[in-house]
Amino acid sequence: MAIQFYNTLTREKQNFSPIDGKTVRIYSCGPTVYSYAHIGNFRAYIFMDTLRRVLKYNGYNLKHVMNITDVGHLESDSDEGEDKMEKAARKENKDPYEIAKYYTEIFFRDMQRLNIEKPEIIAKATDHIKEMLEFVQGLVKNGYAYETSKGIYFDISKLDKYPVLSNRKVDEQIAGARVDVDKEKKNPYDFALWIKAPENHIMKWDSPWGLSYPGWHIECSAMGRKYLGDEFDIHTGGIDHIPTHHENEIAQSKGLTGKIPAKFWMHVEFLQVDGGKMSKSLGNVYTLDELQEKGIEPLAYKLFCFTAHYRTKLNFTFDTALATQTALTRLREGFVKQLNGTEKIENEKIKEYENKFLETINDDLNMPAAMGIVWEIVRNSKTSKQYADLLLKFDEVLGLDLANSEKYLSEAKNINIPEEVQNLLEERKQARIEKNWALSDEIRDKINEMGYIVKDSKDGMTVEKKV
Ligand code: AMP
Ligand code: ZN
Repeated sequence: MAIQFYNTLTREKQNFSPIDGKTVRIYSCGPTVYSYAHIGNFRAYIFMDTLRRVLKYNGYNLKHVMNITDVGHLESDSDEGEDKMEKAARKENKDPYEIAKYYTEIFFRDMQRLNIEKPEIIAKATDHIKEMLEFVQGLVKNGYAYETSKGIYFDISKLDKYPVLSNRKVDEQIAGARVDVDKEKKNPYDFALWIKAPENHIMKWDSPWGLSYPGWHIECSAMGRKYLGDEFDIHTGGIDHIPTHHENEIAQSKGLTGKIPAKFWMHVEFLQVDGGKMSKSLGNVYTLDELQEKGIEPLAYKLFCFTAHYRTKLNFTFDTALATQTALTRLREGFVKQLNGTEKIENEKIKEYENKFLETINDDLNMPAAMGIVWEIVRNSKTSKQYADLLLKFDEVLGLDLANSEKYLSEAKNINIPEEVQNLLEERKQARIEKNWALSDEIRDKINEMGYIVKDSKDGMTVEKKV
């Protein structure tokens, strides 16, 4: 069945198939590891995960690279401000490599909690300085780059067309620019490929231009080329990457290889909070841990992301996310009900659902509609193991770990037992040690009245919330 993806480069939905017919080569812009990733960032990686899973569901192999930016990402995308890693290192009074290691580990822990598949290749920027330097030297040799007192800059006037990805006019950008244009640059939108390091800069490497460090865009061009070649299938990122980061990646690749590196450029829209931008000053930049503290599991957040198409804005509020947590419980209960069902469903009906699901996910990853199909099956009054098997198959795309539904449900029953109930439980244990059966029964009834059931087994006593 044909797959259609929206391509930012052509501004239309196009039929997708990999260049070599079987292995899809993807590059995804990964995290800058100077701080905790927030739920907005994770919307981008949930989209990336769904893309991977849909391609695999269609029978393709994957060669997927995601970078870890641990150097060169300045505070502003337009080469202004400090390197984010160095700034964090100074603030936390630590070595930038230590900072990178710490936040990278937490990032992958969170990815696992969201059941996001790890791309085949994780490429750390500081492990690829040699490739980046060679790329920049190639651009200088081809006449696309020049030296200033600050570093090596890309000369956009050498290109046949700039920009190609965003439809912004370069002149308009200049008029609207808030910062003074660097007088040494040949064109205001020339950008840094390689930056000469100030004296106190920690991360710096030897180069023909003295101790220096790479710009942010060059890492993705150099690592993408190293692992995926001059032309690969898909490049992903957030919409904020379109006007600068991805535009400049394309410029760099055209300067070196003459080619736009990826056929498809796919971008995920932003997550908003309470109808507006997430920002530190508003105190609404949430992490998965903060959601969990409010009773929202990482997988409930993933389900929440499926409520909107990846190309539309998604508004996060705690109320809607809590409602999604309840929906996840219903989904798990529905799955278990189907698992224990004994009715016989005609093969045609199963096939019909399969086709509808495939058609939906292949239509530019239409996850809200795909979830509509899932809910129809879950809520079907006919219960059948065949439906449970079908849901497990669809979960290859959803990645909601439905196979462990029973485990999650029983865990949920055991958490949040109020202290009062726990104390009564301890009293009852004591009563039983003292063989005071009357008191034991009395306490059991009391706990029961409070909405909890006590279960006695050979392993001891457990308590569950009544459902
Ligand atoms: P960064 O670590 O800042 O380089 O960002 C990592 C990824 O998260 C990039 O793909 C960004 O485009 C994406 N991103 C950042 N903020 C949001 C947001 N609010 N919603 C969705 N994606 C975001
Ligand atoms: Zn990138």
